[in-house]
Amino acid sequence: MDFSERIQQYDFDFDGLAARIAAVSAERAAAEIPRALDSVAAGIELDLDDLVVLLSPAADSHLEAMARAAEHLTRKRFGRVIQMYAPMYLSNYCHSTCTYCGFSFGNKIKRLTLSVSDAVKEARLLHDAGIRHLLLLTGEDYKETPIDYLAEVCGILSGLDGAASGGDDRESESADARPFSFSSISLEVYPLKEDEYRLLRSRGMDGLAVYQETYDPRRYAEVHLGGMKKRMQYRLDCPDRAGRAGMRKIAVGALLGLSNPAADAAYTALHARHLMKQYWQSQVSLSLPRMRFAEGVNEIPNVTDREYVRYLFAMRLFLPDAGLNLSTRESPALRDRLATLCVTHMSAGSRTEPGGYSGADSTEQFSVEDHRSIAQVSAMLEANRIEPVFVDWSPVLK
Ligand code: SF4
Repeated sequence: MDFSERIQQYDFDFDGLAARIAAVSAERAAAEIPRALDSVAAGIELDLDDLVVLLSPAADSHLEAMARAAEHLTRKRFGRVIQMYAPMYLSNYCHSTCTYCGFSFGNKIKRLTLSVSDAVKEARLLHDAGIRHLLLLTGEDYKETPIDYLAEVCGILSGLDGAASGGDDRESESADARPFSFSSISLEVYPLKEDEYRLLRSRGMDGLAVYQETYDPRRYAEVHLGGMKKRMQYRLDCPDRAGRAGMRKIAVGALLGLSNPAADAAYTALHARHLMKQYWQSQVSLSLPRMRFAEGVNEIPNVTDREYVRYLFAMRLFLPDAGLNLSTRESPALRDRLATLCVTHMSAGSRTEPGGYSGADSTEQFSVEDHRSIAQVSAMLEANRIEPVFVDWSPVLK
């Protein structure tokens, strides 16, 4: 059963769920949150009613208790480690029109698609900085970045086609020609068919990230004005197709601020739980990025830090075994704090434009807030007695 069917069990009524969350009273929160935290401590799975209360504004008075429970659960399930990764944009060409994104089709920006050899050079810089988990991104342009191109890049960077060198001249003796490969390659590109995921899986891709942006059908239609991304259900079932194709890692998420953030967080959690139950062989993680300024994006809905951490704590309590990703969209201070409480995966030193690590002239997807280098973020984690992990998976096991 795909998520678009499963969601019917929850009366797919986005506005209704948003209203249920908003209506939770202080009395109900005071009665039910301690009980939910006791259930979590006893290893009992929380249900949708619990999630509604934890996400509600009334839960704000219980934030400290939620933080302590989330921290305890995270350390118990994941230990004192954070998995490090870095995004690498292959292209900012896009045929979709999304009102919240700098790459949107109509935007007059500097577009660039990396050649395969330039992608290898760019990846080399991240490898030299210690990154072994790479997230490759493109816009939604099926012609500019076709599946053959993605397969070739994955094959080289995963080492399947022999370890990559620094560029075209693989026989060179220069330092840049030293062979290298990544232990994990995830893709955040356009939605694909199941057999296409199987093909990419066979070429070294082992993770998929696909964010629904919003689970609110009305807002989805309002912010996706053109291109393939208008097809909400095709995107909604994309992680199921990847799960059936045997993807080792699947990440889902919502862009908070596009619609009611608490309801979007709730549907993201339900989506992640569905995937965890349906595809037991895949590691499921989720992310709740907040909107950022970008080309053509001049207004950012206000999702406060306090609300934001409440949503993340609720995710951890509802899904004790799910990974929680936190990107450089967030401020250093907030990232440092959340790293000690509930997050399991962090990016660092990120660039959001193709060729950004090599200084290419192209436009970014959005501005980041945490500009620290990979080494600086690693040092912060170590100062908090958290080990930054760069390799948790051997390619020999793929
Ligand atoms: S969000 Fe994705 S599909 Fe939409 S404009 Fe940006 S890159 Fe294209």
